[in-house]
Order: sequence, then structure tokens, then C-alpha cells
Amino acid sequence: MHILLLGKNGQVGWELQRALAPLGTVTALDRHSAETSPNKYSGDLSQPEALAKTIQMLKPDVIVNAAAYTAVDKAESEPGLARQINADTLALLATEANKIGAWLIHYSTDYVFNGEGDTPWVEDDITAPLSVYGATKLAGENFIVQNCHQHLIFRTSWVYATRGANFAKTMLRLAKERDELGVINDQIGAPTGADLIADCTAHAIRTVMTQGQQQKPSLAGIYNLAASGETSWFDYANHVFTTAKEHGIHLKLTSLNAISTADYATPATRPLNSRLNTQKLSAAFGLTLPPWQQGVTRMLTEMLEQQ
Ligand code: NDP
Repeated sequence: MHILLLGKNGQVGWELQRALAPLGTVTALDRHSAETSPNKYSGDLSQPEALAKTIQMLKPDVIVNAAAYTAVDKAESEPGLARQINADTLALLATEANKIGAWLIHYSTDYVFNGEGDTPWVEDDITAPLSVYGATKLAGENFIVQNCHQHLIFRTSWVYATRGANFAKTMLRLAKERDELGVINDQIGAPTGADLIADCTAHAIRTVMTQGQQQKPSLAGIYNLAASGETSWFDYANHVFTTAKEHGIHLKLTSLNAISTADYATPATRPLNSRLNTQKLSAAFGLTLPPWQQGVTRMLTEMLEQQ
């Protein structure tokens, strides 16, 4: 199996490099690949023609797109660029994948919903994004569904990874510097590890690629993919601090204050209800999504043991 991975250095892309490796040959690209690789393959979603040419040359069996414009607040002032990367280029990507009969695997977000209520979203609930980012991700989903028969779109939420910056690391740094901190307590979701997303992706690819030709289209579709359980950013932060203290880390923080989204102005409006119902994914692929605490504690342990 030949897999083309786009966005290899993002949170999810990095973990996909590991998780996809046992499935076959992986050509992993990032947006600078055309300049850095000898074969000039392009992984730049802002250069659709070069990307299409790369797909035509490589003819992969599977394309996994982990690249995206993910700067949620910045997207409010850069809607054109966000739309190009999260939506317009995906129409071409999907068309090219369809032409060669490849599966296209892509990631989306609970930000396609308006965040109302407290029921976990199911895949066919009505979408109503509150932000430019959410709207561009929704448009990208639609282009893929319309243009590539064999697609898997995983909607996820609150992604973290051991590599690079993440919410837990930021909280720990602030808790060492300050004695008081305010954290939002009315946005509810499930922190989901990039490693979990990558492992589920690899399993899903294996499943669709080993099933009979006739059954393949039945598994194509949109799936929610998030760790199980739910929490607020406030309780997530508390979990981080408790774990840090258990590892003997001294924190200056003495007062953690719950604040509401309304009191914390950001350019982009974020949904309050980011809960995702993952029953469809579990049933289709036989997957069990572990509680969010499991992955977060593991990530924290790896991080804290190095301190
Ligand atoms: P990251 O921001 O960590 O990674 C995105 C990657 O896309 C980066 O490596 C970035 O490269 C790359 N990229 C940006 N612009 C381009 C471009 N023009 N061409 C090629 N690559 C580009 O995101 P995540 O790994 O967290 O996200 C993976 C997917 O999950 C995305 O589809 C995202 O929308 C979705 N998602 C993420 C959530 C989260 O909390 N992070 C929540 C819900 C869904 P560079 O580093 O050079 O900018």
C-alpha cells in the first residue's frame, strides 16, 4: 500500500508518520517539500496545481491530509487564506484522489456545529459554524464528500500532542510563574491525543483497504473521533496541576479561578458544547475510545519525567 501523507509535521501529522509506517510505503510531505526534497513533490495546499501534479505522479492508494489552516483566531482576519487551505484546495485534492481511485482521509472539527445544548453531536446533526475556521472546515468536508467517493472524514476536538506547544504545557508554565489564574469553565469537550487520532486512522485505513471492493463504499463517510468522557478547560487544568503535584512539581499557583467564555474575548467565537458522540466510529471500525484522562496523564507523565 502506498500512502501520501500531507502535513507531516503538525500534531496529528507527526503521529501519523509513526502510525502509518507499518501499513506500507509512506510518502510524507509538508508545505516546504517542493524546495527540500530531490523529487520536488509538493505538499503545499496553497499551491493546488503543484499538489495535483504530485498526486498524478505518485498515484497513492491512500491520501491522508493532516495539513490545515488551524489558527482559529487568525482565520477571522485571514478568511481567504483559511478558505483556500481548508476548503478550496480540498476540492481539487478530492477530485484527483477520485480520478486514481484513492481513499482520501481528512480531519475536521466540532467547530462545524454551533455549540448549543449539552448533547454530544452526532455526525448528521445540523451544522452551523460560529467562526471563519469552522465555516472553512465545513466547506472542506462538503468538497470532499462531493468529489471523492472513497473518503473518511474524522471530526475531532481539543487536540493535543506531546511534541510542540499544548494547553497542558501552557498551564504548567503559567502555574509556575503566577499565583492566580483564570481558566474557562463553560466550554465542554474531550481532550484528544494526536497519537490516538493517528492510531485510529491507521486502523480505519487497514479496515477499508482489506475489505472487499463491494463493501468499501459503505464505510465511506464522516465520523466523530474523540476520546471518551468530557471536561471543561478549567477541570482539564486542574487535572494537569494535580498530576504535576503528584510528580513533585512545585507550583506557585494558589488560586485557580473559573471564568466564562463571555468574559474572555477572542476574535473567533468558540462553541460551548464540543461533545462528540463516537458510536458510529466504534461500530463501523470496532474501536474503543479511551477516557480522555488516560491520554492526558500519559502525555503529562512523559513530559514531567523529563523535568
Ligand atoms: P497543526 O496546526 O498542528 O498542524 C497543521 C499542519 O498543517 C501544520 O504542520 C502546518 O504547517 C500545515 N499547513 C498549514 N498550512 C499549510 C499549507 N498551505 N500547505 C501544507 N501544510 C500546511 O494541526 P493539528 O495536527 O492539530 O490538526 C490536524 C487536523 O485536525 C486539522 O485538520 C485540524 O483542522 C483538525 N482539528 C484540530 C483540532 C485542534 O485542537 N488542534 C481540533 C479539531 C480538529 P506549518 O507548521 O508549517 O504551519
